[in-house]
Amino acid sequence: MTIRFEPEDNPHPFFEQMELLCGDDFYKCYQCGSCASSCPMTEHMEASPRKIMHLVRFGLGEKLAQLNTFWVCATCLCCQVNCPRGIDVARVMEALRTRTLRQKKDYLEPSRQRIAPVSEYPQIALVGAFRKLAC
Ligand code: SF4
Ligand code: SF4
Repeated sequence: MTIRFEPEDNPHPFFEQMELLCGDDFYKCYQCGSCASSCPMTEHMEASPRKIMHLVRFGLGEKLAQLNTFWVCATCLCCQVNCPRGIDVARVMEALRTRTLRQKKDYLEPSRQRIAPVSEYPQIALVGAFRKLAC
């Protein structure tokens, strides 16, 4: 993944916000990739958990906000269990969701869903989606 730094990229507000939401463990990531290799959702993600951690360490909040990864994350905690640095990657994902929701952006808008498909969704998917919508 090519990372481009734009003049408007100022990481400091992002770091402050993330440290409040999930602590500062993300600085400890050394990009081993164990989180990505153990994640059951990577094939549905636009960037793997390892890449997400890379972008977080660079403070590229706006680029992160364009990716679907933290919405797709199932909070299964496999990444946390397998991280040799003990980083709670799922908590980082939750912080990214919360940060985005506070900007009044979301991934799934319930009022725009058609009734028939919604009734066919797996219940756990709906519970997970609406939990992510609650801020
Ligand atoms: S497993 Fe931990 S140290 Fe390795 S890339 Fe993922 S977050 Fe970073
Ligand atoms: S908590 Fe999320 S990022 Fe971590 S392994 Fe599970 S689905 Fe993947």
